[in-house]
Amino acid sequence: MTEKLPDFEAGVAYWTATSADVDGVLGGYGEGTPVPRLDATSSRLLIISLLPQLSTISPPHLPPSSAPSRPSRPFRALDCGAGIGRVTSTVLLPLFDLVDLVEPVEPFVVQAQTNALQGKEGWKWLHVEDESKRKGVRIWRAGLQHFDPLAPARPVRGEANGAGDAGTSAKVELFSQLGKEYAAWPEPSEDLKVAEEGYDLVMVQWCIGHLSDSELVAFLQRSRRALRQRAEGTCEGYIIVKENVCKDTDGDGAGKVFDEDDSSITRSDKAFREVFERAGLTIVRREVQRGFPAELFPVIAYALR
Ligand code: SAH
Repeated sequence: MTEKLPDFEAGVAYWTATSADVDGVLGGYGEGTPVPRLDATSSRLLIISLLPQLSTISPPHLPPSSAPSRPSRPFRALDCGAGIGRVTSTVLLPLFDLVDLVEPVEPFVVQAQTNALQGKEGWKWLHVEDESKRKGVRIWRAGLQHFDPLAPARPVRGEANGAGDAGTSAKVELFSQLGKEYAAWPEPSEDLKVAEEGYDLVMVQWCIGHLSDSELVAFLQRSRRALRQRAEGTCEGYIIVKENVCKDTDGDGAGKVFDEDDSSITRSDKAFREVFERAGLTIVRREVQRGFPAELFPVIAYALR
C-alpha cells in the first residue's frame, strides 16, 4: 500500500474553513475546557527548565543565589504553524522578547494580527509603554515546508519539498510587524548571525502532521541551523516539538495515521524518533503532557538540538 502524504493545499483549505479562535485551532477543546491552560502552563515550565535564565522571577525550587540572571540581549522564539497566535500569547511572549510566527492560513494570520493589536493576555507585551521593555512580533504567512528560519525571505528549494515549489503556495510573505518600534530584527534575506540573532527556541506545536517525513526532516535541519550558538560553536537553543502521538501499532503497524479531513498524519513515538534521528537531532528531554481529557491522543513534548 502506498503511504498517504499530507497535501499542503488540502490542509490549508481545511483550516481556512475552521473558525479563527481557540476552539477552532484546538479542535473544540478551547477556553471551556482545561486544555489551553494546562497546555500553556506545562510548556512554560518545560521552557524555563531548559532555559532557566528566561525566568522573570527567582525560581521557587532553587536557592536564590543559584538563580541564573537574565542576559541583557533580546531572547528570540519562532512559533511554527502558529494559527491565531495562541502559543505566542500564552507561552512565548511572557518569556521571550522577539517572536516570529509562521502560519499559512490567511484568516488565521489576520486574526493573530487582530489579537496582537487588541493586546489581551501575553499580547499586552507589545503595548508596554516603556519602549525598552516592549516586545515585538513578526507574522510570516507561509507553510513550514517553504520557510527557512535562517533567512525567511530566501525561497526553500529541494526535492524534499515537492514539485510545486515555483507555485504561489511556496510564497513567504512578511504579513505584519508589531510592537517594539526599534526592534533589532535581522535582515530576512541574509543568514542569521546565530551567535547574536539565532533562535533560543523553535516551538512546533500541533501542526507538524502537515509535513511529510522528508519535509519534516528538512525543516528540522533548517531550524537547527537557525538556533543560537555560543561563540565556540556549541548550540544554545532548543527545538520543541509538542504533538499528538498515536500507537506504534496504529496504521497497520506503520505508526502513522492519515487524517482525511485535514490531510495530516499523526505519528507514533517511534515514527517521531526516526524522523529526529534522520534530521541529526538528539532528544534532550521528553515529557508526556498530563491532565488532558482521556479521549484525546496522548501529547508528547520533545526538546531537541
Ligand atoms: N500551533 C497552534 C495552531 C494549531 S492548529 C496552536 O497550538 O494553537 C494547526 C495549525 O497548523 C493551523 O493553524 C494550520 O493552518 C497550520 N498548518 C497547516 N498546514 C501547515 C503547514 N504546511 N505549515 C505550517 N502550518 C500549517
